[in-house]
Amino acid sequence: MHNHSTRSDGLLSPTELIGLAARTGVDAIALTDHDTVEGLEEAAEAARRTGVAFVPGVEISVSWGSTTLHVVGLQVDASSAPLREGLEGIRKGRLDRARRIGEALERLGIGGTFEAALALARDERLLSRTHFGRHLAERGVVKDIQHAFDKYLGKGKPAYVEHRWAVLEDAIGWIRAAGGTAVLAHPGRYDLKPMMRHAMLEQFKALGGEAIEVVTGSHRPEEYSLWQREALEFGFYASRGADYHGPGESPAEPGSLPALHASLTPVWSKWAH
Ligand code: AMP
Ligand code: MN
Ligand code: MN
Ligand code: MN
Repeated sequence: MHNHSTRSDGLLSPTELIGLAARTGVDAIALTDHDTVEGLEEAAEAARRTGVAFVPGVEISVSWGSTTLHVVGLQVDASSAPLREGLEGIRKGRLDRARRIGEALERLGIGGTFEAALALARDERLLSRTHFGRHLAERGVVKDIQHAFDKYLGKGKPAYVEHRWAVLEDAIGWIRAAGGTAVLAHPGRYDLKPMMRHAMLEQFKALGGEAIEVVTGSHRPEEYSLWQREALEFGFYASRGADYHGPGESPAEPGSLPALHASLTPVWSKWAH
């Protein structure tokens, strides 16, 4: 229930992603590109051709205090005007942020990264730190993308640029306006202490969030039980998703992660017949 394509920072086109799902025999697959629904029509068409059960989705970038949260919307109607307009607003800031990331890297003696990252992205409004990381790895500045984040691009690192994304209330509102279910993505990745963690889950729920990811490629297996407990305590549906970005770039392939614990109610039980 969480995968990317070339429409944001993934390596496979929507059609190729669905092809992979068909070959590996997953029960269902969602496409959840960052801040865009542009790939959903192509993916849905490929899914119809191959008989794969497809869930249209999106992953929205949110600024919550000084923390960037990601909210996945599942089963969204891609033609929804509030959703499309909201996403358009977020995407506008990406180009300017990317310029500033490029300038920060330049000051560290690594020139030309803005142009190179732009060449790797399909759309300048979808320029992601992933494109910078990919370029730094290809160029041999770091050994892989992970190290690009650890050394330069991650929060608190020298080429990190603060950015204001959507507010949580709006992101959840756009997803619900599009008939979708709001899922808090990889909650273990935000590095929050227990009090903030609870504040985040409480607010997410109060604003209409319905599910959290428990099993994800972005959680270490030893983290699953913590988020399982939180899902049960707060009465959230649970989701499972690889957060797949492409061959060789993700810890998990679609469909390869362990099943959700039987005590949890999977988010897809809302719409699976
Ligand atoms: P952006 O939305 O442009 O700030 O980029 C965020 C994307 O960068 C995420 O969706 C991941 O694909 C990737 N990312 C974030 N943190 C890391 C990390 N520590 N290691 C590798 N990739 C990361
Ligand atoms: Mn990404
Ligand atoms: Mn994410
Ligand atoms: Mn993701």
